[in-house]
Amino acid sequence: EKHVDIVGAGLAGSEAALQLADRGIHVRLFEMRPDRQTAVHATGRCAELVCSNSLKSEKPDSAAGMLKAELHALGSRLFDVAQTHRVAAGGALAVDRDAFSKAVTEGIEAHPFIELVRAEVTEIPFEADATVLASGPLTSDALAASLGRLTGRRHLSFYDAAAPIVMADSLDHGRLFRQSRYEEGEGDYLNAPFSREEYEAFAHELVNAKRVVAKDFETRELFQACQPIEEIARKGIDAPRFGTLKPVGLTDPATGRRPWAALQLRAEDAHGESYNLVGFQTNLTFGEQERVFRMIPGLESAEFARFGVMHRNTFIDAPHLLDADLRLASASEAAGRLFVAGQLAGTEGYCEAIRSGLHVALGVYASLTGAKAPAVPRQTVFGALLAYATDPSVVDYQPMHVNFGIMEPLAERVKNKRLRYAAYAERGAGALAAYVDDLRSQHLMGERCDG
Ligand code: FAD
Repeated sequence: EKHVDIVGAGLAGSEAALQLADRGIHVRLFEMRPDRQTAVHATGRCAELVCSNSLKSEKPDSAAGMLKAELHALGSRLFDVAQTHRVAAGGALAVDRDAFSKAVTEGIEAHPFIELVRAEVTEIPFEADATVLASGPLTSDALAASLGRLTGRRHLSFYDAAAPIVMADSLDHGRLFRQSRYEEGEGDYLNAPFSREEYEAFAHELVNAKRVVAKDFETRELFQACQPIEEIARKGIDAPRFGTLKPVGLTDPATGRRPWAALQLRAEDAHGESYNLVGFQTNLTFGEQERVFRMIPGLESAEFARFGVMHRNTFIDAPHLLDADLRLASASEAAGRLFVAGQLAGTEGYCEAIRSGLHVALGVYASLTGAKAPAVPRQTVFGALLAYATDPSVVDYQPMHVNFGIMEPLAERVKNKRLRYAAYAERGAGALAAYVDDLRSQHLMGERCDG
């Protein structure tokens, strides 16, 4: 008999618990609500959706759609419940949030292999054969402190301040130039040069654009650490030009002169498929980011792989702490039995959390039964996210959701965007089928999960 402790009955923890229990593993699932609430949850139910009731697009040739195909093929329990409780939402999968979390809770409470323990965990438990931490972006302070003691506090973040990321092929490379500051020749950065008029019009819109209203508990910690670009602009029209947008050390080859201001873009992935806007942490609404940031020279048609966000979010430095099974890779024997799932492991998004819980369940099950968990192919969207999130060369990691900006490029370049996305989906479907076969041959997936 094998026993696993899971902390947090959110999206990742609930999925992991059901997957392991279905495979005959005894699970103790700890959930601190309703006695101890987080700042955003409202009920005591498992898998409560804290914000939108949308699980995003179902379009097969979108990253979110591919993720759903992966959840379906792997027999995700929560995805199944979501389908049952879906509400009309165009091309997206949206759910009746109450019915959804109620059904997940009932499934967990009724499962003979799951004991749901309503208590806050304040120290990481190491009594079971394996432990999964799935306590989410609002992990309680005591548990975060316990994790910090294990990993070192510098490997733990308490908020997310991510700059937007744009797709490389949506940029006007005729206007941008490649150069590193103070260096001759081609450098590592793409630079967007502003004329004075362009800069002033941009700064004006930046100051007046609509912002996301941050919750009290978020602003308290956030603004001391890291200033959003619109806050910097509010200090004075030239403030960004002397900071994030400083043009020193840059020469625009088109004019032979230093631009009035310049934004630097840094490759986000090894293949240069997407770029992040350096120093552009922002609290603007997504719509305003699209409108205002497209005023930046060269970004007029920019397509956003992810928008900038700033919010309370506990997550660990996944690239330097976790292996591909999302296991804490550490010298200590106890830590080797500790897995991390969901947003705490550095992914972002509802479906990503569910998929992450499922992935960890497979890794835990494999480790308990002596099987070998096959690697998730990088051509699947979750495989691409996992490769990104556990790549030790990534510095200053910020949580990421699935997107085409971090996909491995196609063997042959497809210029047309629609065809390229269809090609990603087709390649991903093939890789997924092979992965499912591998799981079966390792007896990690049974017939119950048949897609
Ligand atoms: P959660 O679903 O939060 O589950 C973690 C669970 O652990 C909670 O039930 C919590 O009560 C419990 N817990 C915490 N500490 C302890 C402890 N010490 N002991 C016992 N239990 C504990 N993603 C989207 O795709 N769409 C959105 O609209 C969206 N909105 C968001 C809004 C906010 C304010 C936040 C913070 C995040 C949002 N996300 C959204 C991101 C993310 O997808 C969700 O937060 C998702 O629920 C993460 O899943 P999880 O399983 O990692 O964490």
